[in-house]
Amino acid sequence: MNVYDSDRMIDLLKPLGYELTEEPSEADIAILNTCHIREKAEQKVYSDLGRLKLQQDQRRLEGNDMLIGVGGCVGQAEGAEIIKQAPYVSMVFGPQTYHRLPEMIAQLVRQKDANSKKRSRGLVDTDFPIESKFDSLTPPTISPASAFLAIQEGCDKFCTFCVVPYTRGAEFSRPALEIIEDAKRLVSLGAVEITLLGQNVNAYHGAAPYASVHGKNEWGLARLIQELSNIEGLKRIRYTTSHPRDVDQDLIDAHRDIPQLMPFIHLPVQSGSDRILEAMNRKHSAKDYLKIIELFKKAREDIAFSSDFIIGFPGETDADHKATLALIEEVKFGQAYSFKYSVRPGTPAGAMELQVEEKVKSMRLHELQHLLGDHQLSFNKSKIGTIQPVLFDRKAKLEGQMLGKTPYMQSVPMMIPERLFGKIVDVKIEDGYAGSLAGSIVTEEYIGNINPSHNGQEREIPV
Ligand code: SAH
Ligand code: SF4
Repeated sequence: MNVYDSDRMIDLLKPLGYELTEEPSEADIAILNTCHIREKAEQKVYSDLGRLKLQQDQRRLEGNDMLIGVGGCVGQAEGAEIIKQAPYVSMVFGPQTYHRLPEMIAQLVRQKDANSKKRSRGLVDTDFPIESKFDSLTPPTISPASAFLAIQEGCDKFCTFCVVPYTRGAEFSRPALEIIEDAKRLVSLGAVEITLLGQNVNAYHGAAPYASVHGKNEWGLARLIQELSNIEGLKRIRYTTSHPRDVDQDLIDAHRDIPQLMPFIHLPVQSGSDRILEAMNRKHSAKDYLKIIELFKKAREDIAFSSDFIIGFPGETDADHKATLALIEEVKFGQAYSFKYSVRPGTPAGAMELQVEEKVKSMRLHELQHLLGDHQLSFNKSKIGTIQPVLFDRKAKLEGQMLGKTPYMQSVPMMIPERLFGKIVDVKIEDGYAGSLAGSIVTEEYIGNINPSHNGQEREIPV
């Protein structure tokens, strides 16, 4: 979501004459778009700000300037405190106010012109606005092959560990027509894959574009996906992040009926212990979760899952931890993210007794990641010998190497000709590792007389 928001900020600043630079020393404005979800992410903001201050000093020595802004959820949560701690920051704003960025910048520039000697006072804009920021965003003007599209934001679920309801605000769904128009524009700009975004994307209930014969004037996620699947040229649809409580039969059926909908679902469970799930206010049990997995598998046999886990939630015992390992053993996730529980200010869990010792958290995390890693490796190896459609959408680490994605989000780094960039190409999988796959291209129109293999050696194909 932060990547999406950052791109929108770039779009908003274009009409003011700003463009993106890879080089911080060239920047007239530097914006940190921040995350507040765990303490570590928050701490990073202050160390990054320290580094930016050096760049700002250098630019001022050279007779230039650099406006520094802090956006995102740390901006929302900390507000004026950031300017107190780092007085060289000129503006602080939140995830629901960044559409006012052009006004903030214009105001700062005016202040500076009016009083060029004195440093202007920092601006803080973190009041949740009545208007939706989406009404003020400019339509995308460029698109990567794999694009993000926000359809829902915020959250009303108040899990006891989580800051999102406080920083992103109340749950909100964009009208379906607006999303369809954005999706069509992204496809016309080159997107072949769209990932629909929301903090609880499957809680989506946006205004329908037209009245339905059933009298329904809202669409759920499944109905929206169905409509998007009619867009010519849109080959892949994904959504993230979904919540087990908001999975409905329509969404399960969509995975059976819509071929463009990728068979890989990020469905965080957080814990496998019912006691902990209750204390987290997740409002579902481990059994409910497993039932949902089973229903998805019934709808589409080749479906796979990823998840998020929080380790060491207050009161978590060895038995609770074992229950989480048991759930992992049962589902066998293709991929997963796991984090030590991080106390967040103002959340109910932060004030709970029986906080788990750091040492215990580390041990449990290690054990859990080991198991998840084993499953990920087996999942990757299970694809050996299959042909996977791979979308090459970004540059990899090595010069000339591209990174592709299978339907299951597995990375496939390969040396490929540039003309395949942004294309979906059939790849015969020859090996599977912890975090990637290797193979050779088999799509006939692309073979020509070269078959670039993953190890960078282009070799002739015998005809
Ligand atoms: N809406 C999604 C998740 C959004 S937050 C859901 O409900 O599943 C993204 C992930 O960050 C969560 O799934 C959780 O695993 C992790 N997270 C959130 N708060 C955390 C905290 N206080 N400590 C550690 N991890 C946390
Ligand atoms: Fe946070 Fe997700 Fe819970 Fe909402 S549902 S409070 S975003 S973890």
